[in-house]
Amino acid sequence: MVKVPELFGSMVFNEQVMRERLPKDIYKALQSTIKAGKHISSEVADVVANAMKDWAIEKGATHYTHWFQPMTGVTAEKHDSFLQPADGGTVIMNFSGKQLIKGEPDASSFPSGGLRSTFEARGYTAWDPTSYAFVKDSVLYIPTAFVSYSGQVLDKKTPLLRSMDSLSKAALRILKFFGKTPDRVTPSVGPEQEYFLIPRELYKKRPDLIITGRTLFGAKPPKGQELDDHYFGNIKTRVLEYMEDLDRELWKLGVYAKTRHNEVAPAQHELAPIYSTVNIATDHNQLTMAIMRKLAKKHDLVCLLHEKPFAGVNGSGKHNNWSISTSDGENLLEPGKDLKHNLQFMLFLTAVIKAVDEHQDLLRLSVASAGNDHRLGANEAPPAIISMFLGDEITDLLETLAADKEYSNRVGNRLSTGVESVPIIYEDTTDRNRTSPFAFTGNKFEFRSLGSALNIACPNIMINAAVADVLNTFADELEKVKAADFKKASAALIKREYLAHRRIVFNGDNYADAWREEAERRGLLNLKSTPEALSYYDRPKNVELFKRLKIYTDKEVRARKDILLENYCKVINIEALTMCEITLKQILPAATEFSTVLADNIAKLTALGITATAQRETLETVAGLITDAYNAEQKLSEVQLAVKNESDLQTEADKCYSEVFAAMQELRTYCDRLETVMPKNMWPFPTYGDLLLYV
Ligand code: ADP
Ligand code: MG
Repeated sequence: MVKVPELFGSMVFNEQVMRERLPKDIYKALQSTIKAGKHISSEVADVVANAMKDWAIEKGATHYTHWFQPMTGVTAEKHDSFLQPADGGTVIMNFSGKQLIKGEPDASSFPSGGLRSTFEARGYTAWDPTSYAFVKDSVLYIPTAFVSYSGQVLDKKTPLLRSMDSLSKAALRILKFFGKTPDRVTPSVGPEQEYFLIPRELYKKRPDLIITGRTLFGAKPPKGQELDDHYFGNIKTRVLEYMEDLDRELWKLGVYAKTRHNEVAPAQHELAPIYSTVNIATDHNQLTMAIMRKLAKKHDLVCLLHEKPFAGVNGSGKHNNWSISTSDGENLLEPGKDLKHNLQFMLFLTAVIKAVDEHQDLLRLSVASAGNDHRLGANEAPPAIISMFLGDEITDLLETLAADKEYSNRVGNRLSTGVESVPIIYEDTTDRNRTSPFAFTGNKFEFRSLGSALNIACPNIMINAAVADVLNTFADELEKVKAADFKKASAALIKREYLAHRRIVFNGDNYADAWREEAERRGLLNLKSTPEALSYYDRPKNVELFKRLKIYTDKEVRARKDILLENYCKVINIEALTMCEITLKQILPAATEFSTVLADNIAKLTALGITATAQRETLETVAGLITDAYNAEQKLSEVQLAVKNESDLQTEADKCYSEVFAAMQELRTYCDRLETVMPKNMWPFPTYGDLLLYV
């Protein structure tokens, strides 16, 4: 039997371990560093490093690594052993404060968007004491931020920490009006992670999955998700064993893995942790994804984190549940019992409404990727149009306020389960709307547009920054008002801002065509592709925002945009080349072989005086599709080459979407049709049916 409390955090250098292992004064000094963001002295660092090393060695560690999140989207690590030569050809295990605090990975191979030229490739990693170190695979992992020597940000953690600071400062200004002075305000996030599991032996036969993480070909299986029997369905033994193993590994590393269930599509599942501070949630989500992939191997499975591994089957997302709370434990998005009188809540809520409306572009582009382009707007994920769901109660309240009318609190309708022993439950007045990109769900917002593979840092930087900026403008305005007039002034502010931004509120069905038209009338953005969304990144409004909050300089914004555009082009290019290769090397040869079999058969039957109508028709179809697929392959390879020669990055990315991706879709249609007419034993790789239905 597993004793979860004992297992939990057993590989983490957490507060309890620090208290046990550090001298009192050092522990205190470290805590004040963590809580107040103060600099750590070299004496303290030396003691902490030594204690950390001794603890890590007991846990089986031989190496340490500065673990960081470069702009590649995955984490990076370089292992160094604790080994240090000593007298007589022996060694001792050593780890100094300096090594703990600062590392110098060779930064030249990480994307910097032109922030560093190779001759000044040096970047350094700096220990982030707000996220615990841990031991995994005999290595002590030290969470770090990654910056260049000239101070430019090269990673995802640094701007996230900066955005958290901005948000905290801005929120504290607002709380002061209510006589509250907590130390800090912190955003918390619970990311719900979706993934697919497929048998490893089949995966190995699909070069598209191996190279690109998604299937570039594949006809719809006879049974997809039509029966809706997978969602929350019985978990198959092989999958359950994997999930149990996964939970245990995550618990050891201090990840609050909480919920696990089957998802909508066959072979699709979800893992949700209990929410934590966004910085830790980000580290833990990266860790979760890495462990998901690694453990799958042990179970002869492969974990697919791509947003759309299978066309025509539900894709994978990651819901980002976001709230803000004070160091005194108050959730600032908690409406409380008497919504009408909760002025503080209304101020924060209005700030979020304004922030989302003013920065729709930033939210949209923060979730943009080649993979996620397959989901957004495909009636399974929220549309590319950003809007907010507030629920009837809050919307009513805001509308009555805006119309200067009296508001009476709604009471939830009684819902009866019809079963005697099950208590009557009240209808949640903030009933869920599963189609909304940004939904208020009682005491938090759920941003649902994230793709499953995404590093959650970027969307959270955007939310934090956007809300912080608006809170600052609210504070600027309200700080000028006399205390006696504060209530009136803030009510007026809420009314004014709600009226100015209520176009972003939409409680209806986001999948309906009518919404697309309505959103256009409201002037909301509909950024359909990654290149289109990214083109907004360095607009003056956004550059000014990041500069004002000291999150990015204008150079850093442009670097990030370039990295993302480049990455998009690379992904599309790799996919295009892989498609061409599979078509020429596997699909067309197989189809040609089949057509030869048919032709031989027809010739033999005809010689015997038997008409072979079915064979003839099939042969004609196959021959026709071979020609179509061949032509489409030629065209794809031509446009791919032409687009690659574009000198302007934005133009190249735009064309990758409008030309290369379009040509890929065309080629796929012919090949998928071939799959449906070919005999199973002649098709060169496992089909959707094989991959999805037999775990
Ligand atoms: P679902 O959305 O599947 O119905 P829940 O709403 O219970 O599930 O929770 C989803 C995620 O939201 C979990 O990771 C949970 O820890 C997180 N969550 C719950 N409350 C908060 C909060 N106040 N702030 C941030 N995340 C939260
Ligand atoms: Mg959810």
